[in-house]
Amino acid sequence: MSTIIENYQEIKSTLPENVQLVAVSKTHPVESIKQLYDAGQKIFGENKVQELLEKQELLPKDIQWHLIGHLQSNKVKFVVPFVDSIQSVDSKKILIQINKEAEKISRMIKILLQVKIASEESKYGLSPEEAEELFTEINLKNYPFVKFSGLMGMATFTEDESVLQKEFSTLKNLFQKLDLDPDVHLLSMGMSGDYKTAIRSGANSVRVGSAIFGTRN
Ligand SMILES: *Cc1c(COP(=O)(O)O)cnc(C)c1O
Repeated sequence: MSTIIENYQEIKSTLPENVQLVAVSKTHPVESIKQLYDAGQKIFGENKVQELLEKQELLPKDIQWHLIGHLQSNKVKFVVPFVDSIQSVDSKKILIQINKEAEKISRMIKILLQVKIASEESKYGLSPEEAEELFTEINLKNYPFVKFSGLMGMATFTEDESVLQKEFSTLKNLFQKLDLDPDVHLLSMGMSGDYKTAIRSGANSVRVGSAIFGTRN
């Protein structure tokens, strides 16, 4: 059990101070999350709505939950009451739905636009052009209950540094093009296998699961 904390502290010690760590707890039990919470981690990421709902019920209310997985419109209403950020906004449809449900309860939801940077098929995400368009719409205040908080991307599952760097730089370039202030906006890229490369490529938020909690089944 204590290895979770050891993994966590080792990763924390290598992260630059400006880089936010989202501990990705999907598939891992609430006991492990509580252990990490007691060690000081307050930001957790989950990718499935049902699992997130079950866990948040049982855990301290000051955890900042980040939804990092694909979200369906009909499930938005379940997460909007408590989630801190939705990192996986990948369509205008879902943006409209988040704003609508947030308005009902007068709550601002932080959102990140998920941009497809991997060459692999089947990954969700907007093209950089689509992300730019949605960003512009959000800036026009079309979604008053949504707070634009940055960009999220997942690179190809590979150890090839040049592929990773190329994909991460696509997102970094968009981040710079939109002129986002890194002190208030997240450039969320990097997972257990590639977070060091992501940070070198400009990430200020990383989503790390298995390197902390161990491998998933
Ligand atoms: C599972 C997941 C992660 C974490 O993956 P690890 O390789 O376990 O660190 C990060 N981001 C997203 C979107 C995920 O679904």
